[in-house]
Amino acid sequence: MTDLVVVEELCTYFQVRGPTGRRAVLHAVDNVSFVVRRNEILALVGESGCGKSTLARTILQLQKRTSGRVLFDGQDLTALAAGELRRLRRRMQVIFQHPHGSLDPRVSIGQAIRDPMDIHAVGTMDERQSRVEELLGLVGLHPDHAQRFPHQISGGQAQRVAIARALALHPDFIIADEPVSSLDVSIQAQILNLLADLRASLGLTYLFIAHNLAVVEHFSSRVAVMYLGRIVELAISDELYARPLHPYTQALLASAPVADPDAPARPPAYIGDVPNPLEPPPGCRFESRCPMAMDICRQVDPVLTEVEPEHWVACHLYPILQRSST
Ligand code: SF4
Repeated sequence: MTDLVVVEELCTYFQVRGPTGRRAVLHAVDNVSFVVRRNEILALVGESGCGKSTLARTILQLQKRTSGRVLFDGQDLTALAAGELRRLRRRMQVIFQHPHGSLDPRVSIGQAIRDPMDIHAVGTMDERQSRVEELLGLVGLHPDHAQRFPHQISGGQAQRVAIARALALHPDFIIADEPVSSLDVSIQAQILNLLADLRASLGLTYLFIAHNLAVVEHFSSRVAVMYLGRIVELAISDELYARPLHPYTQALLASAPVADPDAPARPPAYIGDVPNPLEPPPGCRFESRCPMAMDICRQVDPVLTEVEPEHWVACHLYPILQRSST
């Protein structure tokens, strides 16, 4: 499988006012590197505020990067002129968390789906109209929905409209930023199934952002776990759920809800507090919460390392375990 998106040492920092009013730098995305392979679903998981959405916006060049590169199908997005980037953007689309928030209440569903084609002047008026009907069918909506307005449809239907609009320009790559987290659980499953079907039938590639590992367990090809601006673990899905290596991933999995009222009480997922993102610690960023922390963790920032084929982790435990087992 070839790489469609390559993220290289990407950093996005923000100048902010700290609690005392002094200028400070927020390291929202800090030296992040990974690839998204063609036709895969790469899930990006972490708690709110860990930098997932900023990373997504920086990949799409909707947010200015501080340093690093993003290659899409071999082209460096960070070096493209505005016109070239605009043309390439047709192939990269985004679906947001709040479907109703991403729809203009004064614009009909049909026009909302048609907007990207109008903006990019794709096809004739008739072709755009037929494409709207085709897209409504693709996402499981009736042609009559085209005449409705956002307040006349449910949250699940609104997310289907957002998906239809994202598909309007025949993209290759879709970033889905928490697309099901504001929906009821039963609707979540329907939207996940729809996205999986569309990937298979249209050959799409997804970067799927979630704050809950349980949501992406049966949906993703690989999972990247993010903590405080960094990727701390990345592995093939089955491997990550069967054998999470990073203590943060283990804690996330331990805190995932279980649909069994008789299940034993779970131990606390974390100890300690999240460090101040304006002053990240010099060593491991998870050290203040990690039950396995060692002296080296306070001093040396662990590097994301492939400790087993296709299993990457940024934690001082693993090189030590590997050395002691040889
Ligand atoms: Fe815990 Fe140390 Fe690993 Fe960080 S590097 S997760 S503190 S064991």
